[in-house]
Amino acid sequence: MRINILGVGFDNVTMEQAVAEGVRLTDTPGAHYVVTPNPEIVEVCREDPGAMAAVNGADLVLADGIGVVYGAKLLGTPLKGRAPGIEFAQRLMGRMAQNGKSLFLLGAKPGVAEKAAERLREQYPGLRVVGTHDGYFQEDGPVVEAIRDSGADVVFVCLGAPKQEKWMQKNGAACGAHLLIGLGGCLDVFSGQMQRAPEVFQRLGLEWFHRLLKNPSRLGRMMKLPLFLVHVAGEKRKRA
Ligand code: UDP
Repeated sequence: MRINILGVGFDNVTMEQAVAEGVRLTDTPGAHYVVTPNPEIVEVCREDPGAMAAVNGADLVLADGIGVVYGAKLLGTPLKGRAPGIEFAQRLMGRMAQNGKSLFLLGAKPGVAEKAAERLREQYPGLRVVGTHDGYFQEDGPVVEAIRDSGADVVFVCLGAPKQEKWMQKNGAACGAHLLIGLGGCLDVFSGQMQRAPEVFQRLGLEWFHRLLKNPSRLGRMMKLPLFLVHVAGEKRKRA
């Protein structure tokens, strides 16, 4: 059963369970997709029914941020923990490398996905990165075709939210892959263009703060976090 936070249903899983489910879905016929919403995306979903449907339509909904875990606790329906998208992707790539599975990287500015592919091949010997495409295209058709032709088992879809969630819902089945995962800015990190926050920030759940320090223009977007907490508090009163 999913834990409902302001309309978004989160799967109550540990990181290990999430990865095991990712591996299982990769081996299951048909197309499946994973989303990793943070509070900002929950707020976007509240205002955009299409985004809400795409997120809730996923086969696996992981709590990306500490804010979601905190919100769940405030509502009296705690989650087992958070499962940041980037870490989920890294662990899954480890398993894919062992199992000889193939990966397609979609998204980010031209050149970034190729660079990420190079580095990931080095970091995960045995991982087959079978194709890349940047995230600034006009038509879905040729991109879907490229993924289908690559024969990839898994696709990392990094177009930002809620574009990537809607894209996976609409195009997932046509891509021929078994698993698509919406991963926001992950290719920028995998390519080495952007550093993840130092571990101490990660441990304290302050990765968002580090990203804000590095890129103050995110402040507008991040104002959604206090709004999220206000809405959670309102929901708690309603449920009481
Ligand atoms: N992006 C893209 N196509 C677009 C818009 C964005 O490929 O039309 C990419 C962008 O280059 C970046 C990622 O999507 O690599 C979004 O990063 P952001 O930090 O906004 O995502 P978050 O992790 O916060 O969801």
